[in-house]
Amino acid sequence: MPTIVHTIRRGWVYSPFTCEYCGHEDQGAIHMKVGASAQVGILQDYDDTRDLAMGTAHGNMEQAGDELIALSPCPACGKRDELAVKSFYAKAKPWIGSGALFLVVGLAGAGYLASEGEPEMGLLATSPLLLIGLVVLIAGLGKRLRKLPPSAVFRSRNPEPWAHLGPERASQ
Ligand SMILES: [Zn+2]
Repeated sequence: MPTIVHTIRRGWVYSPFTCEYCGHEDQGAIHMKVGASAQVGILQDYDDTRDLAMGTAHGNMEQAGDELIALSPCPACGKRDELAVKSFYAKAKPWIGSGALFLVVGLAGAGYLASEGEPEMGLLATSPLLLIGLVVLIAGLGKRLRKLPPSAVFRSRNPEPWAHLGPERASQ
């Protein structure tokens, strides 16, 4: 019976921010909560596994936090980084692409069997493909249409997230 260690990390992720439009330089911070789990293996004890899960959660949190800070509108001019926004929406592309592919293949198959004089066969044989295609396509459209996340905190506006770092790190 494998033991799974779950861990949740909460905390601030900090990342420098430079606006590509007005050149405004700032420090961004965002409060994140990320979970991760790892399985206790034969060669690892519980503490090692917990460290591994913590490390994964920490890595996920840093990465997701950096992306969210990059996506935030500039505190000086209010514009969002075009590349960050593009990559946010680009995550929907593989879904839309494969959904459309399933639909095309399914329809082509149905068309072929219909041209052979067996339209019922065609629909029966290809309906799972058409169904999968539709579901995947709708999931992709859902991702494509989702709203951009709310803004990170910027140090020039609200230095509060930096307050607990102490004078040394806070002055960086
Ligand atoms: Zn700007």
